[in-house]
Amino acid sequence: MRISLLALTSLSLAAAFTPRLSVSRTNTASFATRMPVEKPSYKGIDKSIDEVFENNQAWIDRKEAKDPNYFGALGSVHKPKYLWIGCSDARVPANEIMGLDAGDVFVLRNVANMVTGTDFNVMSALQYAVTALEVPHIIVCGHYDCGGVRASIENRDHTPPLENWLRSIRDVYRLHSSELNAIKDPEQRHRRLVELNVIEQCINLFKTGVVQRKRVETFRSDEFSITQPRIHAVVFDPATGKLNPLKVDFRHYIDELHDIYDLYAVEDETKVDEANREAIKGLSKGEAPHLPSDIDADVEVDKRWPKWKFWKKT
Ligand SMILES: [Zn+2]
Repeated sequence: MRISLLALTSLSLAAAFTPRLSVSRTNTASFATRMPVEKPSYKGIDKSIDEVFENNQAWIDRKEAKDPNYFGALGSVHKPKYLWIGCSDARVPANEIMGLDAGDVFVLRNVANMVTGTDFNVMSALQYAVTALEVPHIIVCGHYDCGGVRASIENRDHTPPLENWLRSIRDVYRLHSSELNAIKDPEQRHRRLVELNVIEQCINLFKTGVVQRKRVETFRSDEFSITQPRIHAVVFDPATGKLNPLKVDFRHYIDELHDIYDLYAVEDETKVDEANREAIKGLSKGEAPHLPSDIDADVEVDKRWPKWKFWKKT
C-alpha cells in the first residue's frame, strides 16, 4: 500500500503532539518543570550561526562608536533613494557593492533579477517603493556567471516552479536570438544574455502602470527637476567586483512599444492647466485624486480617475 508523504507527515505530527494533548491544564506547571527549557540563544550550538550574532554586535559597536545616534536615526525614518532589483546570488549584496549604508536601498532579489508582471512579490515591492517610499531611482542589476541565466539556455526540464521561472529568461533569448546565436563563444553569449535580460526587465518596469503614473506625475510637477523614477540597467561582475552601467537608449526601445504598452499619456500639453494638475495629485499613490470644483465640464468624469480622458491612451 502506498502512503503519501503528506500522510506520513501528518502521522508523525500526530505522534509528536500526542503527549502534549494528554497534559491537562491543571498539571501544566509540573509538565513544564520536567521539560528542558531552550534558551533563546544559539551560543555553542552552531559555530557558524554564533558568528552571525557576534558580527552583528560588532557592527552595532562600530556604528555607535562613530555616531552614538546612528540607530536613533535609522529607527525613525525609512526613506531609501534606490529600489534595487537584483539576483539572489550570494555574491551580489546590493548595499555592499554600492558602498551604501543601511536605510539607503530598498532591496528585492530573486533568481536572475526578474520583473514579471504576474509576480506579486516584485509588483508589490515596486508599488510600495514608487508610491509610498517615492524612490527616485530603480536599479535592475544582473551579474555575469548567473546560474539562473545559465540554466535558462539548457534544453532540459528543471521542473516547476523553477522551470516556470526560467521560461521568462528563455523568452528573452527568443526575442534576441539572432544577436545571441551570432556569438560563437558560449561564455560571451552568456554575458550578452545577462545584459539583454537586464534591459528587458527594465522595459518590463516601464510597462507597469505604477511606473507610468509616477513618471507622468513627476514630469508635470514643478516639484521634480527630473522625471521619476529613473530606471538604470547595470551588470555586476563577481570576478572583478565592478558594477557596470549598461549604455541603453530606453527611448529607442520604448518608442517602439508606445502603441502597445502606454497606459498613461498626456495628449495635449495645452489641456493640462492648473486644475488638471490638482486633479492628478495623488494619482501615483493609487488614490482617487481630489476633483477641483472648476474642472472642465466637457471632460468625461470617471469617479475614480477624474482626468482619465487626458491620461488614457486613445
Ligand atoms: Zn544570478
